Amino acid sequence: MKILSVNSGSSSLKFKMYEMPEEKEIISGVFERIGENNSFYTIKLNGEKIEKKVELDNHEDAVKYLIEELIENKVIKSLEEIKGVGHRVVHGADKYASSVIITNDVIRDLEKFSDLAPLHNPANILGIKAFKKMIPNAVEVAVFDTAFHQTMKEENYLYAVPYEWYTNYGVRKYGFHGISHHYLTKRMMEILRKKDAKIITCHLGNGGSITAVCGGKCVDTSMGFTPNAGIIMGTRTGDIDGSIIPYMVEKTGKSLSEIINILNKNSGLLGISGVSNDSRDIEDGIANGNKRCALAQKMFVQSIVDYIARYYVKLNGVDAICFAGGIGEKSIKTRKEIIEKLAVLGIKLDEQANNVRGKEALITTSDSGIPCYVIPTNEELMIARDAFSFVK
Ligand code: ADP
Repeated sequence: MKILSVNSGSSSLKFKMYEMPEEKEIISGVFERIGENNSFYTIKLNGEKIEKKVELDNHEDAVKYLIEELIENKVIKSLEEIKGVGHRVVHGADKYASSVIITNDVIRDLEKFSDLAPLHNPANILGIKAFKKMIPNAVEVAVFDTAFHQTMKEENYLYAVPYEWYTNYGVRKYGFHGISHHYLTKRMMEILRKKDAKIITCHLGNGGSITAVCGGKCVDTSMGFTPNAGIIMGTRTGDIDGSIIPYMVEKTGKSLSEIINILNKNSGLLGISGVSNDSRDIEDGIANGNKRCALAQKMFVQSIVDYIARYYVKLNGVDAICFAGGIGEKSIKTRKEIIEKLAVLGIKLDEQANNVRGKEALITTSDSGIPCYVIPTNEELMIARDAFSFVK
């Protein structure tokens, strides 16, 4: 059975098609610059890459070309073969604690939650509507980035602001990257073979978050009301004192939205280093003696260590820690620095085992107090699995 996994942005649409239940990846691709000039798409099929320049006025155009490619390349004979389409949806607020079949009521909810995720939910809805129209017989499923975190208790998701801010305006910690943390949790539980396992999952990409998990359920997570909270990220601040915002509005004469934009897009590794948001450039900068790159890396690593330490205590001990996302999977240096700072917990790095990129591996010694793993995440597969669960 063919299942599509879809991630729609405001001007892009990524997809992967799987044969289920084998979980075999058949074809993948991305449509870019939708609604802009010079739009194009790239498709990967049988180890080959196809790139085409086409006019993509909207997400429906992207789906139209996708269907054409699927049929031309004999991936499908007819649309009937696509039984399910799973959509990544960033915000399900506190209404959706798991994936759901997308009805008109669900779309209305997602529109309502756009206040909470103005950059993401409207784009996700565009993708959903395009697929609903172009592949009407498939079951459309929403898979939420927030859902996995819905098991957090009140004391962990509330901010110490007037309680009415929560009840009247929804001000609380929602957490994000839940699809990845859920995948990592499942994989770690398979490895540990322990139902009540206590795990810290570290998703370190351009955006990053850390989650404390017990018995397969999220206890706490580092991102908050928005994805700007928690650890330091490529361009985002992570946790800061909110009073900085009005202070900088006053001092610089910039508008509130300009300051918020700086906190999201010009801060983090980029803001401190003044060089780049990409940890590869930061590592190169350090190798070339750039002091601000060294400072950015130090702060980045410490912010991760601080969350791991906090969750170690909160979980009352930990069975395993895992690293994923571009940096977690590929930065040998960052993993080494994090793990060395955790020596007080009895964790011991296996330098040779840590010399790995993008592959599942145990990277601590056999006598390490807590085993640490690299687990390449697979959000697309997680989305396809959830969509499949509704159609099989
Ligand atoms: P996103 O959060 O955008 O999905 P990814 O999870 O793909 O991002 O992570 C992207 C980041 O991974 C890059 O910005 C870069 O910092 C980091 N990265 C990728 N490859 C390497 C590498 N070989 N060494 C160190 N860092 C890497």
